[in-house]
Parts: sequence; C-alpha cells; structure tokens
Amino acid sequence: MKTLVVAGAMWGGQLMLTTEVENFPGFKEGIVGPDLIDNMWKQAESFGAKMIFEDAASVDFSSKPFKVMVGDKVYEGRTVIIATGASARWLGLESETRLRGRGVSVCATCDAAFFKDKKVVVVGGGDSAMEEALALSKFAREVIVVHRRDKLRASRILQERAFENPKIKFIWNSIVQEILGKDKVEGVLFRKSPSNKEMQIVCDAVFIAIGHKPNTEIFKDQVEMDERGYVSTEDTTKTSVGGVFVAGDAEDYRYRQAITAAGAGCKAALDAQKYLEG
Ligand code: NAP
Repeated sequence: MKTLVVAGAMWGGQLMLTTEVENFPGFKEGIVGPDLIDNMWKQAESFGAKMIFEDAASVDFSSKPFKVMVGDKVYEGRTVIIATGASARWLGLESETRLRGRGVSVCATCDAAFFKDKKVVVVGGGDSAMEEALALSKFAREVIVVHRRDKLRASRILQERAFENPKIKFIWNSIVQEILGKDKVEGVLFRKSPSNKEMQIVCDAVFIAIGHKPNTEIFKDQVEMDERGYVSTEDTTKTSVGGVFVAGDAEDYRYRQAITAAGAGCKAALDAQKYLEG
C-alpha cells in the first residue's frame, strides 16, 4: 500500500516537548521524546511511507476517494487514519514559555523524577491536575495545587486521594500571574480572588494541568465527535465514516501515552488494511 504521512509543521507532537520517555517498551535506559520520534520517522520511511511536513488545512470525507488539502495541493486516499493528537493547554504567560523544560512542564509522568525531594506546584483543579499531583507526590517533598476556584472539578475518588495524601496541599481561589525565575523555575506569583492580593511561593517546578485540547478542528462536520472535540469511535478505531480511522490522543483522553497511541496506530493500520481488502 502507498502511505502518505501528513506530519504537519509541528511534526512529532507532544513527544517533541518531552524529555525522558521511560514507559515505551524496547528502550531499557529510556529514550528522549525527539529521539523516539526520529526513530519512528526513519523506521516508517524505510518501509516506504512518504512524509510531508506541512499542516493539512482541511479534509473532505463526503465522497471517495477522501481528500486532504495541504497548501495548494489535494491528496487523495482510499482510507485516512486521523492521528493528529492533542495539545496541552497552557496558561499563556511569557514566563511559562521561557521556562518550558526548565522547571515548567505539562507531563508529570515524563518529568516527575527530575524533582525528587523538591517542592513543586501543580496548576489546575480537574482529574489531570489530581493525577499530576499524585504522580509528583511519589518523588517530590511537597506538592502545592494552585486552583482558581474554591472547589475542584476532579472526580470524587481522585479528590479524596489527593486530600488524603500528606504531601499534597492546596491554595484556593488563586490565579497564576507569572512563573518566577530567570534560567529555571524559582517560584510562582499568583493573585488571590476576590481580594486581588498578590502572593508568591518558592518552588522548583510548575506543572500546568489545565486540560488538553484534541487537534481535531479540521475534522469538525466530517466525522462524529463528542462535545470536547474527541473523535467518536465505533468498534475500536472506526469512526462514523467508513474508511476513516482514528488513533491516539485525537480519540483517547484517558491514557494519553506514546505507547497506547502507538498501539492504537497499529490497530488503525490493520483496520485500514482490512477495509481495503474488503
Ligand atoms: P478539565 O476537567 O477541563 O479540568 C481543567 C481544570 O483546569 C479545571 O479545574 C479548570 O478550572 C482549570 N483551568 C482551566 N483553564 C484554566 C486557566 N486558564 N487557568 C487556571 N485554571 C484553569 O481537564 P482535565 O483535568 O484534563 O480532564 C479532561 C477530561 O479527561 C475530563 O473529562 C476528565 O474526567 C478526564 N480525565 C480522566 C482521568 C481519569 O479518569 N483518571 C484523568 C485525566 C483526565 P475550573 O474548575 O475553574 O474550570
């Protein structure tokens, strides 16, 4: 089969922002995210996949062959696998961008071990934030959750686990204004609501856990999605359009690991092959 990978200008996705990946089988010392992507890219090319490093602007799944528009070109395919992933939401602060990888992270699974016996802050109040705080508590000395309201959005079970954990503390009604530090994270400046009083805490890392957004905008009105934009599946990787499959974080909000996405990619490829044979 002839396979075209429209890898996008930001090819490699979240793994390109990740340091050590230690739960991808086959690398006993772990592997850094960009190296893993480089390996995957070379492996796919060695089997004849063609890559283009531009974004798909739109798709048309209303007739066959399916069409994917990239710049002024239209690519046609008898099947399409959606594997556009998700992006972590960021607060949008200059200091957050500057200190990314220098104490600012969106992935405790990837980076928690770097902050053994340190004091770390988690921003957010949902399930992701509680999971990040719980994961960090295995390494850090102290985990402070800074949340903008006085109630968590997280499920009861995760809330209870976090409340029971002696290492996890909460700062309520607080909006992060700036992450402090020149070359690495040294603290957080936040504003209390409703008093508007500014306060600072000293810490070694800040984990932003305010949710993820699936990169599925261009598939809107083409395949069925849930209200958050995750592509709906029927029977493993099949979408609402016969011949269009989905794998990874564009569909999965729960596991969100490189290995689970890779496994889903393999399933989607097998499903696509079976579809073409049928
Ligand atoms: P989420 O439920 O949307 O929670 C995002 C949290 O971040 C909310 O507490 C929100 O505050 C806060 N927030 C959003 N924007 C912010 C901003 N600009 N500044 C400060 N705080 C901000 O996202 P999530 O936790 O990633 O969860 C997404 C979905 O995945 C949920 O359905 C969740 O149940 C699911 N999930 C499940 C598990 C699990 O079952 N183990 C794990 C992870 C995720 P407010 O509360 O004030 O809105």
